[in-house]
Amino acid sequence: MEKSIFEKILSKEIPSEIIYETQHVFAINDINPVAPVHILVIPKMKIATINDLEDKDMDLIGEIVLTAKKLAFERGIQDSGYRLIWNTNGHGQQTVYHIHLHLIGGKQLSWSF
Ligand code: 5GP
Repeated sequence: MEKSIFEKILSKEIPSEIIYETQHVFAINDINPVAPVHILVIPKMKIATINDLEDKDMDLIGEIVLTAKKLAFERGIQDSGYRLIWNTNGHGQQTVYHIHLHLIGGKQLSWSF
């Protein structure tokens, strides 16, 4: 199966600073940030979409969310606020089919569709 962009970043085939890493997850700054803080928290194991999650992935998803929280505190945006987003498939405007949690903050966000 073709490697995802995030797998290529993890294996250093594509350069990107890995700002956080554990046995199961890693985080990078988004290449096209929509706010002063825009971090992607990514499982090392490729799961294409949220639809592909199984009960066995519960701890992994917990680690991803707790990592986003930790990075929000590190960036000092825990009180001003932030948004965590999982885009899924076409209507969700998912572009990379390897799940990732967007941590977005550092400015007032809007909500419009
Ligand atoms: P999605 O649209 O799938 O929810 O989010 C994919 C995100 O990955 C986008 O925000 C996009 O800017 C980011 N992205 C795509 N390619 C790269 C890359 O090569 N490096 C980094 N750091 N981010 C990327």
